[in-house]
Amino acid sequence: MLRKASSLEMDSFGGRASCASTPASADPAGPNPTCSGVQATSAANEYASCILCPRACRIDRTNNERGVCGASSTLRIGRAALHWWEEPCLVGDQGSGAVFFSHCALGCVYCQNKDLVAGAGVEVSIDQFVRTVLRLQDEEHAANINLVTPSHYVASIAPVLRELRATGSLHIPVVYNTSSYDSVRALRSLRGSIDCYLADFKYATPDVAARLSRASDYPDVALQALDEMVDQVGDWVEDDQGLLQRGVIVRHLVLPGYIDESYKVLGLLHERYGDRIRLSIMNQFTPLRDDLPRYGLGDKVSHQEYERVLDYADDLGIQDYFWQEGGAATESFIPLFDGTGVVS
Ligand code: SF4
Repeated sequence: MLRKASSLEMDSFGGRASCASTPASADPAGPNPTCSGVQATSAANEYASCILCPRACRIDRTNNERGVCGASSTLRIGRAALHWWEEPCLVGDQGSGAVFFSHCALGCVYCQNKDLVAGAGVEVSIDQFVRTVLRLQDEEHAANINLVTPSHYVASIAPVLRELRATGSLHIPVVYNTSSYDSVRALRSLRGSIDCYLADFKYATPDVAARLSRASDYPDVALQALDEMVDQVGDWVEDDQGLLQRGVIVRHLVLPGYIDESYKVLGLLHERYGDRIRLSIMNQFTPLRDDLPRYGLGDKVSHQEYERVLDYADDLGIQDYFWQEGGAATESFIPLFDGTGVVS
C-alpha cells in the first residue's frame, strides 16, 4: 500500500505520561549565569506562586502546597535509563536516555503511566539531576537526553540545561517530551537548550479535551506551544546514522471510538505545519482503569480504526509519518518507575 511505502515504520514505542508547564510573568529566558544561588532563587520564586502551566494554580510548592500536578518544588524522577520504545530516529542502536519525571499537570483519564503520575520515583537534588543526565550521556552512551513530562519542573530544568550547554558538558541532543500543555513563556525559557521536541497533540475539540483531560483549553494551548517549538528548532536534521539532531515530532494517540477526533487532529496539523513537523500516529492505547468504559474507552484501538486513521493521513497527502505495528498496545512497554538509574 502507498502508506506502507511512504511511512516510517516503527516496531513500537513505549508509555509516557503527559503534563504541562507554564510560567507567566517574569522572563525566564533571561541571560543564564550559573546554576547557583541566583538560579535557585529564581526557580523558588516561580514555585512560590505556581503558574508554570496553564492550570495556573498559584499555590506555594515550596511550602507543602500542591496544585493539580501534585509536584513539590523538588525534582522527582521515576526512572533514568536507556529507553528503546521511542521513534527509531530517537533510539538507533544506542537507545534514548530517558529521564521520566514524576507527576503531571494534564492528568488524562486514560493515562498510560498512572503510577508515575501519582508520584512514583525518588526526590533528587539539582546536582543529582545533573550527574544523572551526564551518566546517561557519558557512561550509557545514549543517543540523546529525553526529558519525559518535564513541564511542571521547567523552572529548575531550564537553568541547568543552559549551564550544561554553556560549559559544553552536555553535547548530545536534548529532547523535550511533552503533552504540549505548555505555555509559550515556559518554552521560551528553553530556547537554545532543546534540540528536538517530542510533543503530543491529543485533541482538536475543546469538549473532548475537557472530558478526557479536564482541559478545554488544550487545543489552543497546544497549538501555540507547537508554534513556538517549530520556531525554535527549525528544519529536520538527522546525522549519518539516521539519529535526529533537530526537529519536531508531533505524536497523536488514536483513541478507540474517537476516530473523528483523530481526523480533525491530522487535518489541523497538516494544514498548519505541513512538512515542518513529522507526525507520529500511535495505536498503543491500553485501557488500564476500570472506569474507562464511562468515557467510551473500554477497549483497545481496533485494527480497523487504526487503519482508517492511517488511510486518512495518506489521503491528506501526509508524507513520512511514523506509525506502529499491530500489537503495540501492551502493558509490557511501560517500564518500572522505582528510581532506577538515578545517581544517588
Ligand atoms: S505546574 Fe502544577 S502547581 Fe504549577 S500551575 Fe501547573 S499544575 Fe499547578
